Amino acid sequence: MNIAATTVENYRKLKEVGIGTYILFQETYNKESYEKLHPTGPKSDYAYHTEAMDRAMEAGIDDVGLGVLFGLNNYRYDFTGIIMHAEHLEAYKGVGPHTISVPRVRRADDIDPDVFDNGISDETFAKIVACLRIAVPYTGMIVSTRESQESREKVLKLGISQISGGSRTSVGGYVTEEAPEDNSAQFDVSDNRTLDEVVNWLMKLNFIPSFCTACYREGRTGDRFMTLLKNRQIINCCHPNALMTLKEYLEDYASVETKAIGDALIEEELKRITNPIVMEKATEYIKNIHSGKRDFRF
Ligand code: SF4
Repeated sequence: MNIAATTVENYRKLKEVGIGTYILFQETYNKESYEKLHPTGPKSDYAYHTEAMDRAMEAGIDDVGLGVLFGLNNYRYDFTGIIMHAEHLEAYKGVGPHTISVPRVRRADDIDPDVFDNGISDETFAKIVACLRIAVPYTGMIVSTRESQESREKVLKLGISQISGGSRTSVGGYVTEEAPEDNSAQFDVSDNRTLDEVVNWLMKLNFIPSFCTACYREGRTGDRFMTLLKNRQIINCCHPNALMTLKEYLEDYASVETKAIGDALIEEELKRITNPIVMEKATEYIKNIHSGKRDFRF
């Protein structure tokens, strides 16, 4: 869930209705620059916005997602800021960020990236992703369809673990087809491929596209999740869950070509599951998915 900074009481309500990760982008950690960009309105209080994750955690939300908008301010400052924010959350609650997003300033209807003189090159962007991966190895890293296919391919190999596909950024964009003159989009999408094309592409790059959300549904969040992650035990869940959720996608939505690639990949990957009990169960669940059953998870 992604909403503006709010009170502990409101975060508690969100926790009670069972949200997954709470995501809020800082935009920039530089106070002076932040205040210049948000002169009025509910986002204008720098401290209130910057301390939002502390309040969310105080309210019991244990999975939070950080992000800065690279290009608003000097990237070195914001890179350091986001790492210090992660360090602070670890020190404060013993749980670092669940995800870190790395958006860059992009062209939109009312934004011309050329007026931001802190824009970063593809090379610097790739370095930021690689350094974040090393600095915060346990965190999921997200890149959106703001980035081109080429740029996404580069950063996937450097540590990005979550990407979107088939995104629409205008109001109501998933309900009705986006008209070319629609000017409500938050930013221009650089990667316009469909979800099927993205899934197909990922498999050809030797990645396993996973639609897994098992941890939320099993209550594996916060420090329980982080412990599994930091001692690498999570692989016993992620790997089979990725194969099973991919299988569901292939059965229900994929094109003929994507399905053929995916089924071959699943067959090979099942053999790589190291725990024999997990391997046996996952193989059985995959067969069950093929015959119409759904929603298996480790
Ligand atoms: S088991 Fe699923 S939800 Fe949990 S970390 Fe792995 S991929 Fe994510």
